[in-house]
Amino acid sequence: MDTLRLNAGQVAEAAATLRRGGLLGIPTETVYGLGANGLDQEAVERIFQAKGRPQDNPLILHIPTADWLERYCEDIPAAAYALAERFWPGPLTMILKHKPVVPRAVTAGLDTVGMRCPAHPVCRAILTAADLPVAAPSGNTSGRPSPTNMADMLEDMEGKIDGIVDGGPCQVGVESTIIDLTEQPPRLLRPGGVTLEELEEVLGEVAVDPAVTRLMGAGEQPRAPGMKYRHYAPKAPVTVVRGDPADGARYIRRHLTDGDGVICFNEFVPLFEGHPVEPSGPKDDPAEQARRVFDALRYFDGTDVSHIWAQCPDPEGIGLAVSNRLNKAAGFHIVQA
Ligand code: AMP
Ligand code: MG
Repeated sequence: MDTLRLNAGQVAEAAATLRRGGLLGIPTETVYGLGANGLDQEAVERIFQAKGRPQDNPLILHIPTADWLERYCEDIPAAAYALAERFWPGPLTMILKHKPVVPRAVTAGLDTVGMRCPAHPVCRAILTAADLPVAAPSGNTSGRPSPTNMADMLEDMEGKIDGIVDGGPCQVGVESTIIDLTEQPPRLLRPGGVTLEELEEVLGEVAVDPAVTRLMGAGEQPRAPGMKYRHYAPKAPVTVVRGDPADGARYIRRHLTDGDGVICFNEFVPLFEGHPVEPSGPKDDPAEQARRVFDALRYFDGTDVSHIWAQCPDPEGIGLAVSNRLNKAAGFHIVQA
């Protein structure tokens, strides 16, 4: 199939693609998503085929306004409205109990559904024009780093989807924060653009799922099905280096061998002359590192590096999301400088 490129003004064409059951690449503030009509079981099944996504990994249902929550969810706790008030539209997904109207393909058979109201103006316009909830995961081939611009998504999805809308580079750069509100205290399943500290301001106590910070052992059952799969991983193995940034850069320089690539904070690029280097942003700017992390990981798939060393920010604020994505890309292979 030919993948139609749409510009940000072609909202009507984008909405029509969704309404007739097509697959659409959609810009959001987090990453580009692979969307389909979230009420159409067959359209949603095609998302799984295009991505090569395991069937037991559910999708997120995207809605244009918070007042659509009641159409698809029940037993909605007060905390959901408090979070929607503060963070929607924005990079937060809430896990809630779903109504029977939500197709099985979206929820992978769970009794819960992930709900998000995105902030990207083009995405919002498409959701409103389509007048549908849009089911979407990230727009990458399963296992690869998520796409944060149209070109990255086309690299994976050209010929597999009906169209893609160019909404420019993503402003957050990592996928949405996922919070499970069906438990008490609420549980952080995936860190993202809305930080743990911000969630605590609204919710008080928040439990952090162990899968956020460590590898799940064999036989352990993660709460977010997506957490058990290899993720975001470039072809070459990754080692994450934590600790003081200058110490970390020196550590990498000492251990680097010919043919290795480096993801480092901008300040340390000159240390690695002669090696493929992807700057990840200034050391004190984890928001910029979040915008850069997936592109940096993706870059090395076009090279023949045998190993990637990656500097990692402290796990605070949005740094928790950056460090989570890097650690997952590394299979939690982490060293302390
Ligand atoms: P992606 O944004 O590509 O990672 O895809 C959506 C993510 O949301 C995956 O990590 C899913 O496992 C997660 N997710 C979707 N629905 C649920 C749910 N009902 N419970 C837990 N996690 C979910
Ligand atoms: Mg994904």
